[in-house]
Amino acid sequence: MKWWLYVLECRGGALYTGMTGDLPRRLAEHQSGSGAKFTRARRPVRLVAAWTFGTRQAAAHAERRFKQLPRAAKLAWVEGRWPFAGAPFDFAALGEESDARFCPRCGGRLALRHVESRPLLVCSVCGRHHYRNAKPCAGVLIVRGGMVLLARRGRDPHKGALDIPGGFMEAEETPDHCAVREAREELGLEVRLVGLLGFYMDHYEFQGERSSILNIYYVAETDGEPTAGDDASEVGWYPLTEPPPMAFPHEAVVLRDLQRWVAQGGLSREGGWSWPR
Ligand SMILES: [Zn+2]
Repeated sequence: MKWWLYVLECRGGALYTGMTGDLPRRLAEHQSGSGAKFTRARRPVRLVAAWTFGTRQAAAHAERRFKQLPRAAKLAWVEGRWPFAGAPFDFAALGEESDARFCPRCGGRLALRHVESRPLLVCSVCGRHHYRNAKPCAGVLIVRGGMVLLARRGRDPHKGALDIPGGFMEAEETPDHCAVREAREELGLEVRLVGLLGFYMDHYEFQGERSSILNIYYVAETDGEPTAGDDASEVGWYPLTEPPPMAFPHEAVVLRDLQRWVAQGGLSREGGWSWPR
């Protein structure tokens, strides 16, 4: 059973936070006036955010913490879609269940503050701000005869699942260099990047840590034949019109966008490569 923490915007702009195991039913109750005294007097109400939890206990804990936030911080979560509605609640953003409890510079304890109405971990000793940013990754999409080249992951997370070839950017690396390097390491291929498909957000969970990732995908071409290397256990061609299940949720969107681009003639070489809009 799934549990929800939800936020309603009531008439007059007041926010109402609640939890439930049945969001549609609960929402209908609030709208009909049988949900809660607070919402009955402030109708109509509108659902503005919701997060899901595996247990009632986790939802209740998140509800308690969320209700303690100042209104501006609540609005930042809602309006900044931080994380976006329907995503798991990000306890790390509240300074919980994160590996970052102590300042890496001075060892002082980190405290949750609200800076410009956004939750931020700040060192209680030296005052350093610990921003939580997405980690950038770059990958390559190689298409031949309606087939896309995918790699099977040889390591966790998602060991054994199919993945778009790519990886984390090094600190001093540019995205295009990262994509070319990853193709060399994972596929044993020298590739030429011919277009930028786009940017896609997702999460990466490893060793108990959950990170936001920003994935940058290039369309690439090559004359070579791929061989699995580095952290890929095998590589193969898969039909773009019927993409297989992928390791990360955003990759289904990437393959759909790629398919659309190919269908629009993006990979026709007659008039040269065309850049995706
Ligand atoms: Zn410090």
